[in-house]
Amino acid sequence: MKIHDNILGTIGNTPVVRINRLAPSHVNLFVKIESFNPMSSVKDRLALGIIEDAEKSGDLKPGQTVIEATSGNTGIGLAMVCAQKGHPLVVTMAESFSVERRKLMRFLGAKVVLTPAPLKGSGMVQKARELAEQHGWFQTRQFENESNADMHSRTTAPEILQAFDGRQLDYWVTGYGTGGTLKGVARVLREKSPATKIVVCEPELAGLLTGGIEQKRNADGSPAESHPSFSPHPMQGWTPDFIPKLTGDAMDAENSDAVLTVANPDAMACSRNLAQQEGIFVGISAGATFAAALAVAETAAEGANILCMLPDTGERYLSTPLFEGIEAEMSAAEQELSASTPSCQFEPA
Ligand code: PMP
Repeated sequence: MKIHDNILGTIGNTPVVRINRLAPSHVNLFVKIESFNPMSSVKDRLALGIIEDAEKSGDLKPGQTVIEATSGNTGIGLAMVCAQKGHPLVVTMAESFSVERRKLMRFLGAKVVLTPAPLKGSGMVQKARELAEQHGWFQTRQFENESNADMHSRTTAPEILQAFDGRQLDYWVTGYGTGGTLKGVARVLREKSPATKIVVCEPELAGLLTGGIEQKRNADGSPAESHPSFSPHPMQGWTPDFIPKLTGDAMDAENSDAVLTVANPDAMACSRNLAQQEGIFVGISAGATFAAALAVAETAAEGANILCMLPDTGERYLSTPLFEGIEAEMSAAEQELSASTPSCQFEPA
C-alpha cells in the first residue's frame, strides 16, 4: 500500500471481478467495478483527465470557475476534483435526475442550476453554454472533449489489458453516456487486443445507434438537434437525447462489432441480481450493461472470456425505480420474526 498525495491519486485501478452464480457455466464472465473510484463512478476518471489537460494547456486558469451539463456522475466527479484543486464548479442538470445527485454535488461545494425536464439533455447543454459565455467560465464539454476519451485510453484500457494478461479477452461490453469509455478503450483494444469483440449497448427506449438515423451536428461536434429515435429511459448516465461526438467517432472508426438494446425490466433485474446473488452493488446502467453481457454469453463459445463495465454504485439510486418495492418499514415476514422471540419487539405507530 502506498500513501497518496491527495484523493485524486485514488482514481482508477478499479478491480476486475469474476461472476459466479449469475454467469452461464460455459463462459467466464467478469465485471470491472467503477464504483471503487473515490466518488463511486467511472466519471471520476473523466473529471481528472479533463481538468488536468485544461490546466496544462492553459484553457483553465488557477481559481477559474468550471461549468458542465451533467446527469450527475460527471458533476459529482468534477465537484471532487474541483474541490481538491480550488476551482469553483457550476453544474446544469435536468430536474428529472435523482435528488441524491444534486445534494451530493452541493455537499461537495458545487452550485447546481436545474433545467426543465421536457428540454432533456440538450436543454442542460444549452444552459451551460450560455452561462459559460456570459461569465467567462471554462466549459468541460464532456460529450466532445477528447481529454475524456484520452483518459480512458491512458487508464481504463491498460488496466483491462493488464488484468487479462495471459488470458484472451473475447468480448468487452459497454454502454455509452458520452462515449468516452467506448472511444478511449475501444481504440486501444483494437490495436493491442485485436481478437476482442467490442459490444456496445443502449436502452431499448432510445435505440439511437441501432435505429441508423444520423445525428445532425454543429461545427464543434455538439448536437444540432434532439435525435428522433430518443425517448426518455430510466438508465441514468446512458444515451442522452443525441449521439455524442465521442460515441459517433468510435462508431465511425468501426470500433464496435455489435450494438445490443436492453429493456428496462432486464436492467433493473440484473442490478438487483448482482446485489443479491453476487454481493455487487451497482446502478441501473450497470445492470443494463450486465443484461447485454448475459445476452452475449448466451451465444458465446465454450470457455469465452467476457468483460462487462459496471459504471457506478447502486447507492445513487435510492429514490429511483431501482429501489421500487424496497420499503423502509418492516414487512409482514419481518414482523413475524420480531414476534418470534420475547424481547425488544418494535410496535409500528
Ligand atoms: N453509466 C453511468 C451511470 C454514467 O454516469 C455514465 C457517464 N455518463 C455512463 C454509464 C457512460 O460512460 P461514458 O460517458 O464514458 O460513455
